[in-house]
Amino acid sequence: MKTGSNRSKLRTWVVCLAALVTAFPSESSGGPDANESYAEANRFFDQGQFAQAIESYKTAISENPGFVAAYHNLALAAEMVDRKQAIEAWKRFIEAAGDKEQFKFDVARIRARVQIMERMPDLPEALQPSRYVAEVGDYYWNISRNSEGEEWSRFPLKVYLGSAPQMKWQEGARQAYDTWAALFPLQLVARPEQGDIRLSWNPANLGERRAGEEMEWVDFKREGNELTARRIAVISVDQNFNWAKDDMRAIITHELGHALGIKGHSDTKKDIMYMEMQRKVYSRTFGGFPLQFWKSLVKEPSQRDINTLIRLYNHPGSSVRFR
Ligand SMILES: [Zn+2]
Repeated sequence: MKTGSNRSKLRTWVVCLAALVTAFPSESSGGPDANESYAEANRFFDQGQFAQAIESYKTAISENPGFVAAYHNLALAAEMVDRKQAIEAWKRFIEAAGDKEQFKFDVARIRARVQIMERMPDLPEALQPSRYVAEVGDYYWNISRNSEGEEWSRFPLKVYLGSAPQMKWQEGARQAYDTWAALFPLQLVARPEQGDIRLSWNPANLGERRAGEEMEWVDFKREGNELTARRIAVISVDQNFNWAKDDMRAIITHELGHALGIKGHSDTKKDIMYMEMQRKVYSRTFGGFPLQFWKSLVKEPSQRDINTLIRLYNHPGSSVRFR
């Protein structure tokens, strides 16, 4: 999170996945009626109306049972409705694609995807697709490139809050934790080495106008002949500024959002994952002297933030819908 307009420098050990853009295979189009239903389904998909999209893809398929692209997008939409249904739908896509040359690559990719889905952990209630609120939408496509593959798979995540040098910061950090803990399975731990996510209160120099930072690495440890790897996320805050409690809460809530898997930023100021800290500065006169006030406008995750996390945790890796 930043206080100014510098470009973000999120440092992680993440290897960026190139988004897979699959061109629409022309031979798979489905005749005028089916194409119309398909276009409608794609519109639903883009609006986050996944259940309606599925119905329209089904209509397209009933109008043309060989409409392979419709099978593909139906399965992708089903990931945001129900995982079991999605796995079944992907298997139907593989069947429909058969050994058609132009789908060879997609079929191989989807076979791997189904394997991943079958091994995915049960998600906590708050990340179930049913919690996705379509009217609000998300900013998944802004963050998917760097975030996919960064989901945690073992819950609850253990969080070490440490001791802040100021009581109001400690309270702000605790409130940030409580906010996410209400949405995501988190557990406080007493010692830093127990934490998957750790707050560091060492004086950090984060560079100009940067309020907080989240960094991740993998910790390798040898026990006997076993080499174990553990992922750790560390959050630091610029302590050269006299943050109010609410500011600290906003900073830590934002950085926790990165730690939970959102490796990117929202494009909307109302979201906690917007890249800048919101300050509203205004002046008022008090006894003839102008006073300046400022505050963080966003203090907790929005439904768009939550929707984005839900999509991230329900899509096993990169897959762009067919056009
Ligand atoms: Zn950020």
